[in-house]
Amino acid sequence: MAYKKEDIYDEPVTDALTQHYKQVIEQLGEDPEREGLMKTPERVAKAMQVLTQGYHMDAHEIINSAKFHEDVSEMIIVKDIELYSLCEHHMLPFFGRAHVAYIPNGWITGLSKIARVVDVYSHRLQVQERLTVQIMNAIKETLNPLGVAVVIEAKHLCMMMRGVQKQNSETTTSAFDGEFQKNSTRSEFLKLISARLS
Ligand SMILES: [Zn+2]
Repeated sequence: MAYKKEDIYDEPVTDALTQHYKQVIEQLGEDPEREGLMKTPERVAKAMQVLTQGYHMDAHEIINSAKFHEDVSEMIIVKDIELYSLCEHHMLPFFGRAHVAYIPNGWITGLSKIARVVDVYSHRLQVQERLTVQIMNAIKETLNPLGVAVVIEAKHLCMMMRGVQKQNSETTTSAFDGEFQKNSTRSEFLKLISARLS
């Protein structure tokens, strides 16, 4: 990942967060001084800094750093990109897979860059719907393709752990632009991503 370590573990931020999490533990009725919890506030602070490191990254920059001229106009699909994010309402994880496709219009990017873009936006406080659109827009704005499609399937711990939702239900969101607004192109994409490897 092309981030600077000091961007994530900015020390004054880590220290301030550590103090807050110590108070949180106390307010929840636990003893932050007991042995098992001594280092927990600092660990949580650092974990949260990593889980929100996307604020220090620029998706457009990542794509532009590996943008190649190429005369292909076939649909390019990156399927089953692992995704871990935090819902902005409860700051609890939601996780699943993203499927991204685009039809180039003279420009392509490295396949790993698409996965990086998913990482950049998922490592922020999010709602799944906005995450889906942000990934689509980053590709649209940098590669100017003939079409972009993004589908995200995810499970939300805020619903599962609090018993709001049946344990295994998954939320699916999608965003389509350009050629993918046509029924035939969209169907082809959806067929290709739903074909599971056995
Ligand atoms: Zn939530």
